[in-house]
Amino acid sequence: MNQIETDVLIIGAGPAGSVAASILQREGFRVLVVEKQQFPRFVIGESMLPISMNLLADAGLLEAVQQQNFMRKNGAVFLRGDEVCNFDFSSQFTDGWNFTYQVPRADFDKTLADTVAARGVEILYRHGVTTVKFEPTHAAATIEKPDGTKFEVKAKFIFDASGYGRVLPRLLDLETPSKFPQRAALFTHITGDIRPAGSEEGKIWVCLHPQGAWIWIIPFSNGKTSVGVVAGAEFFDQFPGELDAQLRAILTSDPNAAKRLAKMEFAMPAQRISGYACSVKQLFGERFVLVGNATEFLDPVFSSGVALALASSQRAAKILVRQLRGETVDWQTEYADHVMQGINTFRAYVAAWYDDKLPTIFFAANRNPDIMRQICSVLAGYVWDKSNPYVAQADRALGLLAKILKR
Ligand SMILES: Cc1cc2nc3c(=O)[nH]c(=O)nc-3n(C[C@H](O)[C@H](O)[C@H](O)COP(=O)(O)OP(=O)(O)OC[C@H]3O[C@@H](n4cnc5c(N)ncnc54)[C@H](O)[C@@H]3O)c2cc1C
Repeated sequence: MNQIETDVLIIGAGPAGSVAASILQREGFRVLVVEKQQFPRFVIGESMLPISMNLLADAGLLEAVQQQNFMRKNGAVFLRGDEVCNFDFSSQFTDGWNFTYQVPRADFDKTLADTVAARGVEILYRHGVTTVKFEPTHAAATIEKPDGTKFEVKAKFIFDASGYGRVLPRLLDLETPSKFPQRAALFTHITGDIRPAGSEEGKIWVCLHPQGAWIWIIPFSNGKTSVGVVAGAEFFDQFPGELDAQLRAILTSDPNAAKRLAKMEFAMPAQRISGYACSVKQLFGERFVLVGNATEFLDPVFSSGVALALASSQRAAKILVRQLRGETVDWQTEYADHVMQGINTFRAYVAAWYDDKLPTIFFAANRNPDIMRQICSVLAGYVWDKSNPYVAQADRALGLLAKILKR
């Protein structure tokens, strides 16, 4: 079998893969990215968080994104019947970006990948990693080409940015079930969205469906809008029929979505995915690290996936640069603990969303503006700002607040 050598092999050219490639290549290391699909390719996960702007800028990728004319997103609106909770990122507690973008991921991911490729990173599309082995001096991966033949890549280190592919968790038996119940998402892109006017146009809408589900509405600048519903299996059983009919029935049975989507036409067939919540036993090992969705995926409700993918990948790439230069690094404290701080903050919010604490807080009649600013920063992705009590003690703070508001 033919063999090629590189410093770092990156599995996957999604946002996590491109950020790592950009940082490592900039620091002078040889990087090879292996991507199973041909870009542009569809992937779900289209609403970004403002912290992603910091992370893209740091990786030298923000300018390329800003040139794409994506829809500006300056907040999030939660709706339940007649009740509305409108967050604007300009009023958040943490000093951070007050807007970000809603992005069709086919275009966004291709923009990032093309930008790093233009700087000299080799990306092999339609190539998949099938096996890995770790030797004392190097790591080796078998790569399958589009014609089915194989070759070996010898690398000093492997970055697993394979997202839902979860290549190393599967090959190294690192997978462990998520503690969240398994939910499903049914979604499509539509035209005919009757959008709010002005600066409200680009905000994500999250509608709490009266029968126990939530709906996302994410407007793009290309005239299309991403719509989807997330719920447990028993919710979907109430809406029989093919996926398109099922999704249409769900969207039109929520009062807020029904009004906004009264003129919708589906721009692609509805898709359903389930069982996406997942976790791993460890985030790193000798000569490898897991980044982005290859680590843990919680839930889509707070649009945290891409932000966590960028943040974990940036962090890991910077630690690896130091390690490859001969410094001693501590992957546990510098990487795993840091990444888990972000994941665990979002975990507290996801749990509070589904056990009704957050809806209680969001739709309370007497919301405290200072507290809402602190929660807004979490919704903007600033989950490492421990000066924010709704980050530092997320679980406790949300629990106490919901209890007081319920009295
Ligand atoms: C229903 C739903 C809605 C979501 N909504 C949002 C949202 O609004 N906002 C948000 O931020 N996140 C959202 N997410 C999460 C988001 O999809 C992910 O967190 C994000 O895509 C992770 O990026 P990544 O770079 O880690 O992986 P990916 O974007 O999945 O990229 C991984 C790449 O690795 C490649 N790959 C896989 N296997 C192999 C292999 N064997 N060899 C080579 N390459 C391989 C894949 O082809 C893929 O291109 C949502 C998730 C779900 C399930």
